[in-house]
Amino acid sequence: MPVERETEILEVLRRVRDPDLGRDIVSLGFVKNVRVADGNVAFTIELTTPACPVREQLKEEARQAVLALPGFKNVEVTMTAQVRSTPSEKKEKMLPAVKNIVPVASGKGGVGKSTVSANLAVTLAQLGARVGLMDADVYGPSIPMIMGVKQPPQALPGNRLIPPVEHGVKIISVGFFIRPGEAVIWRGPMLHKTVEQFLSNVEWGELDYLIVDLPPGTGDIQLSLCQTIPLTGAAVVATPQDVALQVAEKAIIMFGKLNTPVLGLIENMSGFVCPHCGAREEIFGSGGARTYSMEHDIPFLGEIPLATEVRQTSDSGLPIVAAAPDSPAAKAFRQVAENLAAQVSIRNLGGVPEDRPTPAEISQPKRGEVRILWKDGHESLYQARDLRLACLCALCVDEVSRKPRLRAEMIPPDVYPSAIHPVGRYAVRFQWSDGHSTGIYAFDYLRSLCPCGKCGSTGTA
Ligand code: ADP
Repeated sequence: MPVERETEILEVLRRVRDPDLGRDIVSLGFVKNVRVADGNVAFTIELTTPACPVREQLKEEARQAVLALPGFKNVEVTMTAQVRSTPSEKKEKMLPAVKNIVPVASGKGGVGKSTVSANLAVTLAQLGARVGLMDADVYGPSIPMIMGVKQPPQALPGNRLIPPVEHGVKIISVGFFIRPGEAVIWRGPMLHKTVEQFLSNVEWGELDYLIVDLPPGTGDIQLSLCQTIPLTGAAVVATPQDVALQVAEKAIIMFGKLNTPVLGLIENMSGFVCPHCGAREEIFGSGGARTYSMEHDIPFLGEIPLATEVRQTSDSGLPIVAAAPDSPAAKAFRQVAENLAAQVSIRNLGGVPEDRPTPAEISQPKRGEVRILWKDGHESLYQARDLRLACLCALCVDEVSRKPRLRAEMIPPDVYPSAIHPVGRYAVRFQWSDGHSTGIYAFDYLRSLCPCGKCGSTGTA
């Protein structure tokens, strides 16, 4: 292949940015194996996680960018993923084949930490990652039940243990080793020793993510466990009430003491969706975790609704993401899992450039308005309908000509966002009252749409 053509291809691919990582796919080293023959181009994009939230978007952008070059008729893009490992000497010694260890913590019990751990693990496996789940919740080791484990681990000579596998996830639990009612007599050192054995004696094989369901709370047990395990970063689960009562903050402070990054906050039991009429009721309030995250510069990973089927499926050993993958709760788990995987990638690649606009707070002063207070102090007050009309998704804008498909008369005058979902740390997705929800609004695009007239009028999502 002429070298100039490859240079040309790489040059246009530099315009394709991974919005989570804040850099272009060429300088990130994602573009591999470029081949050109008879006007046909093929190349591979190797992402840092199979759970990439913008996988399809990047594929299409890359394809279109190369297709726009003269002389190319067909462009074939293969998407693959290679999860990066947390650089850690301790981990290399203890568990070299496990790339990332991610504990799931909560300030107190009963907030759904185990349910979230199980569903995240299964989702990551469904998306193609190699996943393990370690249940260290000595007070209520519910993972074997939630995951429907039928066989205990298989013991091999030399204290080796083969973990059972359910829903594509390798599972180990303190529940396999304590008799019912015995948990209360377990002391910190005993748990500590057991977890150490889990790390060294269990045949995990190669894993991209090992999710650890920690005991609830933020006492010595949790601290010493987290010191034993070499961690990539932690996810903190909270109900809207916990956020209000500062229970979640205790967990965040604990990880601060341990110098472990908090990869994000997950709001569980956030609003109840009535299975009969579909109406949403904010039983414990909602959105508090999102506001808290923005104020404290912690990634917000998403919110999981309170839904009877989440409990029922957990009780029956088939987590909801496996039992009903199209349910709203399963979709919410998928979003959280993708955002979590993106945060792991960001950590492993050394962070993101901090030069982009970031909101400190997003609110709706009125139903038809969206207000963003930016970290630099600027305030943008948008008419919701203007934002709806500015959607750049493939349904609203022609992907090839970039001409709008949407006409103003198609949008009701009183359209409003019924929910605003975070996408990684760079964008939001609006759930509009007209049923539309596919557009991703990157923060720099939203800033460029600011009606003040000074923030600029161009931008891309
Ligand atoms: P933790 O690990 O924090 O103690 P669990 O995951 O055991 O909490 O959850 C406590 C209870 O709440 C369980 O019965 C579980 O099925 C239920 N639960 C968890 N999350 C949800 C949810 N989003 N909707 C409905 N029930 C939930």
